[in-house]
Amino acid sequence: MNYAFPVPVVPSVPVAGTDLGFPVHRIYCVGRNYAEHVREMGFEPEREPPFFFTKPADAIVADGATIAYALGTQNLHHEIELVVAIGKSGVNITRDTALEHVYGYATGIDMTRRDLQLAARDKGRPWDIGKAFDESAPISQIHRASEIGHPAAGAIRLSVNGNLRQDADLKQLLWSVPELLVELSRLFVLRPGDLIYTGTPAGVGPVTAGDELRGSIEGVDTITIRISAPGDRL
Ligand code: MN
Repeated sequence: MNYAFPVPVVPSVPVAGTDLGFPVHRIYCVGRNYAEHVREMGFEPEREPPFFFTKPADAIVADGATIAYALGTQNLHHEIELVVAIGKSGVNITRDTALEHVYGYATGIDMTRRDLQLAARDKGRPWDIGKAFDESAPISQIHRASEIGHPAAGAIRLSVNGNLRQDADLKQLLWSVPELLVELSRLFVLRPGDLIYTGTPAGVGPVTAGDELRGSIEGVDTITIRISAPGDRL
């Protein structure tokens, strides 16, 4: 097959301790998965089934990168999140076997155009333009579960220019990783290369050009991202 344009490079994330890249297939994200964040977004936390949205695979950004302040927004927010990397296909996964599908974990930031997300939400429109944009999915290296296990507790934090903004514990996830895989695999065939951003704790807030974001998840990894002025994208 000859293509009309050069074939895009497969987006990939380095696998820690190896010379391998984890080829990204899809990016799924979970909404409202920490009670205090549910409250700060104006809702009461209830044990309703989790809900999902997606980002394009090429939205990933490597640890240490500088990203441009996003187009079309006046309110770009950080959301620190545990990311699950899928290594084995599955559909209608059961809770008992869910973790067999996990390749590893990373520390990610779900960058959000909050003004566009809330405008869409309030009008009953899709969230896509608030969530699924260029450079919206920074992610650390992926650490294999065979090396670090399956973190279910530990500090999850994000600071901006050294000021702590988000400070919670993975224990506070409303839906655990196995539960998320059960629910998500009822809706989609999970494939090796899928990433799942599992939701953010309270403390989300705006960033501006010049800021340095530093996220960390105990037992997983840290991530540092800088924000530059808008423009210079092509
Ligand atoms: Mn999020």
